[in-house]
Amino acid sequence: MAGNWKMYKTPRETATFFDHFKPLVDGYDRCDIVIFPPAIDIPAAVSAASGANIAIGGQNIYWGKEGAFTGEISAEMLTAAGARWTLVGHSERRHVVASETDAEVLKKTQAALAAGLTPIVCMGERLEDHKAGKTNEVLIRQFAGGVAGLTEEQFALVAAAYEPVWAIGTGQTATPEIAAAAHKLIREESEKRFGSDAAQKLRILYGGSVKPDNIRGLMKEFEIDGVLVGGASLDPESFSKIVKAA
Ligand code: PEP
Repeated sequence: MAGNWKMYKTPRETATFFDHFKPLVDGYDRCDIVIFPPAIDIPAAVSAASGANIAIGGQNIYWGKEGAFTGEISAEMLTAAGARWTLVGHSERRHVVASETDAEVLKKTQAALAAGLTPIVCMGERLEDHKAGKTNEVLIRQFAGGVAGLTEEQFALVAAAYEPVWAIGTGQTATPEIAAAAHKLIREESEKRFGSDAAQKLRILYGGSVKPDNIRGLMKEFEIDGVLVGGASLDPESFSKIVKAA
């Protein structure tokens, strides 16, 4: 169960969040709990989460180890700061703040793995593709370009997220059936490339306007292994309710 804070919260607000959130999930070990704060908040989050069943991740990495890449952060830097996970290919990076390509998503995923981070590789179609019935086409293309290039050993270490762009931050959640169908497709593509065992073990999260009042319907779907939550992860009460639906 993962929370993506996007560009919200200062280090002080991060510490306050954990003061409230930690007791709410204390001893809860039915799932991995991961929070992806802005990079500037990672040291505060790592320190506040220490001793709890809560891991911290970065929202983005660059694939180089170091160099003249102003504004970027390497996977090694995240690891050194205490992060254990990273998002890769979030739709806001593909379509809003950068134009990340599938080839870059693959390079970032490989860099994350090389540094010992667990990447969550995000995929999902835009509204126009959804309306045109092109969801499967987009997912197959993003999988082929962004994930299929991994080795079997690498694939065993990644998680995936289906995040339909039209559902992110819009309040318009995909129905559990729509989400499950997309997850099934990602699993089928995984099976074709990496075999049945690896495909069954892949954790696929759903993301897009997940809230405490729709989480149970989503988690009832066999294909949905967890969720990636934006807005509703900013509030300790609401995110803890979502986490406990695992
Ligand atoms: C996200 O940022 O990955 C996300 C799914 O956002 P929201 O839950 O706000 O739609």
